[in-house]
Amino acid sequence: MNILAVYAHPNPASFNHAILETVVKVFLAKGHACTVRDLYGIRFDPILGPADFEAIQKGSARPDVADEQQFIKEAELLVLIHPIWWFSMPAILKGWIDRVLSFGFAYTVTDQGPAPLLRGKKAAIFNTTGGTEEVYEQGGFQTALRASLETGTLGFCGIETIHHRFFYAVPYVTPEERTAMLVQAKQDAERLVSS
Ligand code: FAD
Repeated sequence: MNILAVYAHPNPASFNHAILETVVKVFLAKGHACTVRDLYGIRFDPILGPADFEAIQKGSARPDVADEQQFIKEAELLVLIHPIWWFSMPAILKGWIDRVLSFGFAYTVTDQGPAPLLRGKKAAIFNTTGGTEEVYEQGGFQTALRASLETGTLGFCGIETIHHRFFYAVPYVTPEERTAMLVQAKQDAERLVSS
């Protein structure tokens, strides 16, 4: 399987980076191809600007966006790894979505309304939080995050989310609990490529 891992965390020593390393190791060990797009590492420009709209109107894309779109075209499974910031995603990832999942590439509009263009692709999401699971449940935040990313964004483009893991209160749990989270991430990755 061809896998695209899109990773958004500025710190190479972060727990999110440990998740990235863990899942990529599994994918490669099981014989799959995995491309990593480290959005901070490549200094991805997250600002959707006038030049992007001009390119879209011409049916094309700016070169950096075209590169990302090519990675998506080639991928069967998209793996997003990021912390929850302000009950959303880091702005660099939001900008990657704004620019890369563009009109004419990820979706179009027909007489019947919007139509997805990325059907057949699947997604898996790994999120870390500062808040506890209880806070997320009581506030409805998990439901809101799922609706926004799985349905409103990926689903709108035809991408089916087959896995969404939340690791809660990551900075505040014990080292043993964090180790257990990475074991869970490893098992999740194994399951993702087992079928
Ligand atoms: P890190 O801070 O990098 O690491 C956490 C701990 O894991 C550290 O002790 C680190 O040493 C340890 N660690 C690193 N690598 C390993 C490893 N390999 N094995 C074991 N331990 C390791 N949270 C919310 O719930 N809701 C919000 O709206 C929200 N908004 C935020 C907004 C901003 C701008 C920021 C900066 C944070 C926000 N947070 C929020 C908190 C944020 O979600 C968490 O801090 C983040 O998810 C933790 O993940 P991390 O990768 O940044 O952890």
